[in-house]
Amino acid sequence: MAKKPEKDTRIDRTMQHLSGLANSEGFLQYADVLRETGQIRNYSVLYFNLKGFGQINRKFGSATGDEIIIRYGEVLHEYTTEEEFLGHLGEDTFIALILRKNRDMFLNLLIRGVLVETKTEKGKSWVSLSAVVGVWDVDGDIKDPRDVITYPSIAMSHAKYELHQSHAFASKSVLARATQREEILDIFHDSIEQKEFEVYYQPKVDSRDGKLIGAEGLVRWKHNDEMISPGAFIPTLEMSGEILFLDYYVLERVCEDIKKWKEAGQDPVTVSVNFSRKDLKDRELAENILGIIKKAGIDKELIEIEVTETVDDEEHEILTAFLDKLYEMGIRTAIDDFGSGYSSLATLREFKVSTLKIDRSFINTDDFSWRDEVILTDIIHMALQLGMSVITEGVEREDQLVFVNNAGCFAIQGYYYDRPLPHDEFEKRLKDKQYGKK
Ligand code: C2E
Ligand code: CA
Ligand code: CA
Repeated sequence: MAKKPEKDTRIDRTMQHLSGLANSEGFLQYADVLRETGQIRNYSVLYFNLKGFGQINRKFGSATGDEIIIRYGEVLHEYTTEEEFLGHLGEDTFIALILRKNRDMFLNLLIRGVLVETKTEKGKSWVSLSAVVGVWDVDGDIKDPRDVITYPSIAMSHAKYELHQSHAFASKSVLARATQREEILDIFHDSIEQKEFEVYYQPKVDSRDGKLIGAEGLVRWKHNDEMISPGAFIPTLEMSGEILFLDYYVLERVCEDIKKWKEAGQDPVTVSVNFSRKDLKDRELAENILGIIKKAGIDKELIEIEVTETVDDEEHEILTAFLDKLYEMGIRTAIDDFGSGYSSLATLREFKVSTLKIDRSFINTDDFSWRDEVILTDIIHMALQLGMSVITEGVEREDQLVFVNNAGCFAIQGYYYDRPLPHDEFEKRLKDKQYGKK
């Protein structure tokens, strides 16, 4: 069996220089030995990433952040046995080969959190470090030696970005979806160039007079004669950051369509375009959006940018700054999916947005209680008082329409009026802009 590096081993290329633990190369070497002897089947690999470490770094400074990382590694090391192995892949990401029988204990430790002592200006204090963990119970079926890192890392991403939970296992289906994601990413840029992405337009209607008042642009991927819905590829593009290219592309297409409608003598309506929270990584997001609208030479009023709320403090700050910028630029904005989980009433107070989009979960019920109505009426009332417009999405049935009307919202987007329509279909709706009064 491979020997664990001693704490003071000389620095070599198998070691993570900060913590002195094995890096990916060192970890793979150890795993290789276990693989050759077949013992690896008795192990689970745990790949884990610290929660909120960015915040800790900002709060204490990066030198203290480094010390915390070193201490964290030391504390964890105390919880491993001689036959187990701990690696540090860099920054706040670690990996461990843990005997199957100890797996739950170690997993719980990582999730519950480890207390690490730290020195601050005010003296000593303690930080609790918990992690998001991906677990792979090694099944002996290793095609590529790097699988021991890749598989649990896939499970970690699944936990972090999809389940939003503290841990996940690398099950067969989780791994299969990861392969699918890789395929999507492989062909994504070609598909953009080949213009395989199309924008569908879902009408927004004023239910009082049946007038078409706007639309939402929703992307579709036409690949091999198949129309793929965004649910199948957007999470993947969000995870990789590639979503930004798509969102700019969709905005460009919408601006072009609006421009063409104008040139053809039509009177287009305001179209909202979705921007993922992941797009906020681009510090020039607002400027680039303005640039795209200007380049097309269309009226700014004809575009609205939809974003969703966030629970993450750091993201919240960036989102607020982004919305403020768009407000100053005179570009309309909307808070999407309001009420679907993350949104809070503070949103109404803090964000300078033009529109509040009430999520369909508010009306996704068969019998509306007076409680539902009180809550929705209050939210709508507050938003209107604050100068926002309010729209409800996902309205499919008459009783839902009556319910939201009673609560004071008349702008409606949903199958009740129309599904998202291909360009040419929507163009027909633009002609008389009138829905029959139902
Ligand atoms: P979303 O922004 O909340 O868009 C509304 C979704 O609800 C659309 O699904 C729409 O087809 C669907 N919908 C509309 N009316 C009804 C209804 O009455 N009943 C039901 N059950 N559903 C209705 P779609 O087009 O599949 O899009 C799903 C999500 O994908 C969108 O949710 C949005 O989050 C994302 N998305 C779509 N296009 C883009 C895009 O260009 N960029 C980004 N970043 N995300 C996009
Ligand atoms: Ca939306
Ligand atoms: Ca929505």
